[in-house]
Amino acid sequence: MTTKKLQYERPVIQKLNTGVMNKFGTKTEYKPVTHIDDNSVKDLIEKFGSPLFVISEKSIRDTYHNANRAFKNRYPKVQFAWSYKTNYVNAVCNVFHQEGSWAEVVSGFEYNKALQNGVPGNKIIFNGPDKSEAELTLAINNDSLIHIDHLDELYLIKEIANQSKKRPRVAIRVNMDTGVYPMWDRFGFNYENGQAWDAINKIMLNDKMDLVGLHSHIGTFMLAPSAYGIAAAKLSDLAIAIKKKYKKNIQYIDMGGGFASKNTLKGSYLQGVDTSPTFDQFAEAITTSILNAGFTENELPLLILETGRALIDDAGYLLGTVISNKRLSDGRRATIMDFGVNILFTSFWYDHKISPAQEFGQYTEDAVLYGPLCMNIDVIRENITLPPLMRNDHVVVHTVGAYNMTQWMQFISLRPAIVMIDTKNIPHIIRNRETLNSIQGDEVMPKHLKDFKL
Ligand SMILES: *Cc1c(COP(=O)(O)O)cnc(C)c1O
Repeated sequence: MTTKKLQYERPVIQKLNTGVMNKFGTKTEYKPVTHIDDNSVKDLIEKFGSPLFVISEKSIRDTYHNANRAFKNRYPKVQFAWSYKTNYVNAVCNVFHQEGSWAEVVSGFEYNKALQNGVPGNKIIFNGPDKSEAELTLAINNDSLIHIDHLDELYLIKEIANQSKKRPRVAIRVNMDTGVYPMWDRFGFNYENGQAWDAINKIMLNDKMDLVGLHSHIGTFMLAPSAYGIAAAKLSDLAIAIKKKYKKNIQYIDMGGGFASKNTLKGSYLQGVDTSPTFDQFAEAITTSILNAGFTENELPLLILETGRALIDDAGYLLGTVISNKRLSDGRRATIMDFGVNILFTSFWYDHKISPAQEFGQYTEDAVLYGPLCMNIDVIRENITLPPLMRNDHVVVHTVGAYNMTQWMQFISLRPAIVMIDTKNIPHIIRNRETLNSIQGDEVMPKHLKDFKL
């Protein structure tokens, strides 16, 4: 008979702080997370390498159903459009498209990605300040919804429309004071100073294009549902003023994205899980404003939502492995992980929840978590309470589905694979780990630099 040898845990001396304990107790962060959707972390890492991004398809679909329910219970016509820049790995986009989401893109690159995924042109919303003439022409030919950011874009669309048989379907992006500061006023046309109304008149008096919608995206990681209520009221006022002056109905109001996910912002005392509003709260604020704005029943515009992070953040995990432990000169414990801030970009803003992936004893200690980059800024968590982790132990970083897989940087090593666990708990590779060849594929060596002698 064999018995499993107990793991040695070195004793630690812990400073006791007198005073009031945090009301949440001390153990909130470090319950072991050994499995994700029934797949053991250890097996996933053995099979697909470490570090590894893991996305739970079930979690995406559950979150989407919850958001969709919150809005559809309160408003008759609702349409989600997946924000590509939040996570544009094609398999992720297609889960949203299967659920009925259109595509919301902010560049020509993303526009073509959506087309290649099979999204019909008339279900692509084209946002952003930088749309080239060629990209606008393509979008006009495909009947896409073009959200105009500035007057130069408006005049360019006019020129293209003059040469074309197609009538561009356009909306304007409106920025406004919603009581949340700093105000995002660099995108689109301002409401308060009359720019938005001016742009509307310029479009309405042009016989070559149709103003079909009004758009706003008031910020990101917004914690105040009331700000969306104010924005929805201001867009509704514009729509009703258009109806009054031009006898034309605006087809849709697009409230953009920005709903906070459940991450914890750095420096906040309470955990994100406790502070982030629910979809019901955002939906209540938005739909109340539109329903009370004075539209008749058959004039009610379609409500479009471009929610990104709040739909995907929870579904993403980053699995990693301990490289080493050391003591800093001030005595603090430092643990070096095999993933750095280059693939966990959001660690600049969030205190990500990080769980050990194996059982552990009763000791805990405050530690700094470093990544493997040879750079001082490579700090995953400045201060985290964890049980002592040993070399080759694994951890699970939570709530990393938004922005990390689009903003990640290839730096000194290869970016990891991404695995999606399907609703039957079967893992699928959805992006291979990079290779030397995939990184160097676009490099070109001039002939005179090909050879050298050392
Ligand atoms: C980034 C962006 C979104 C999504 O924002 P989230 O904060 O991820 O919800 C939606 N609409 C526009 C125009 C954006 O730029």
